[in-house]
Amino acid sequence: METNFSLQQLLDPELKVAESLLQQCVHCGFCNATCPTYQLSQDEGDGPRGRIWIMRAFLTEERQPSAEEQNYLDRCLTCLACTTTCPAGVDYLHLSDIARRKIDRPLKDRALRRVLTEILPHPRRFRLSLILSALARSFVKFLPSMLARMVDMTERANKTKPLAAGTYPAQKTRRMRALMLTGCAQQSLDAEINHATVRLLTRLGVEVVVPAHAGCCGALAEHLGHHHDAQDSIRAMIKSWQPHDVDAVVINASGCGFHIKDWGFVMQDDPHFAEAAKYYAGLSRDLSEIVAQLGIASSPHVKGLNVALHLPCSLQHGQKITAQPKALLEAAGFSVSLPADSHLCCGAAGTYALLQPEVSDQLGRNKAEVLKATGAAVIASSNMGCMNHIRPAAAQPVVHLAQLLDWATGGPKPKGIN
Ligand code: SF4
Ligand code: SF4
Repeated sequence: METNFSLQQLLDPELKVAESLLQQCVHCGFCNATCPTYQLSQDEGDGPRGRIWIMRAFLTEERQPSAEEQNYLDRCLTCLACTTTCPAGVDYLHLSDIARRKIDRPLKDRALRRVLTEILPHPRRFRLSLILSALARSFVKFLPSMLARMVDMTERANKTKPLAAGTYPAQKTRRMRALMLTGCAQQSLDAEINHATVRLLTRLGVEVVVPAHAGCCGALAEHLGHHHDAQDSIRAMIKSWQPHDVDAVVINASGCGFHIKDWGFVMQDDPHFAEAAKYYAGLSRDLSEIVAQLGIASSPHVKGLNVALHLPCSLQHGQKITAQPKALLEAAGFSVSLPADSHLCCGAAGTYALLQPEVSDQLGRNKAEVLKATGAAVIASSNMGCMNHIRPAAAQPVVHLAQLLDWATGGPKPKGIN
């Protein structure tokens, strides 16, 4: 795609990157076929090709997007289905992150995004907000819609205590030493996922290190357009990891995993942390990658239970991991069904469910429907955001892959499975 940035504009390092990313697009429109928002509205502006056109227009013309253009951009889930489909390899993620940072939003919108950046990535603040939300339950009909949706989340929050920082020794022979990311929102909404992950990994011979005060990986802030907050979170996390000598970093929340694998790009302009960020990005593995490396045996407990597998976008389109979760479940003795159109986003998409409730809920209902149609007894996923979003409309219990693999290797049966 041709761009018309002036030489003056190209002195801005972000616009320089944007120019090269825009030039990758040949405007063929193949990406529209797999874009969830384009599928809902059939409107060119709601597809990746249209959004790239809008980004090119306002970035090159040195203006702000119109209200209509802004809506089209905001309705993007950043699900990255378009990047899986695109034959030209357009890097839509980094282009849209740059475009978001160039948008000067109205005060109300900025305040809303600031509130989300200040609460969701901080486990203590998030837990406090869940408690306050629970107290506000009787006033829910008087609350603004975003706060009302946060109150709804408290209904689904699990009361299990968060996993404590420390070292969890490998059972029998140690085969690996790994840092574990406990996540911010996940730890507050369902800490059982982390407990199941530690039981599974230690049973398979991993010594698991959970550092204190690691904080958030920066994903939420980055995708809300708060790049500097995201970088601050990354620096804090790197500092908490550096004292530990490990073989890998294991991540059981695919949204966080995808972002950490991208730290090299996000931190490239920081002379003090760029190298460390790249190092940890290279060391990071999704839980399914680690378990696949260690191997898992068939279990007598699970008796071929049929599992509908929901692959989060951050796993299948972001990290390009599609085979391992299914292969692991089958190796453990489950039978696995993939829902129709499994490439489509469930609508959770980080803070999208709070910011774009209508599209988000429609996609959530569609996903629950195709998962139900599999006839499976249980739904498994690898990201708390998807699980929390699918649950209200789902006909089956929704659990994390770690919980099923933990059960198969001797852990407790996940709640909700008969
Ligand atoms: S498929 Fe790729 S090259 Fe074609 S319009 Fe979409 S982003 Fe551009
Ligand atoms: S990231 Fe997802 S929602 Fe956004 S344009 Fe690409 S396919 Fe569509």
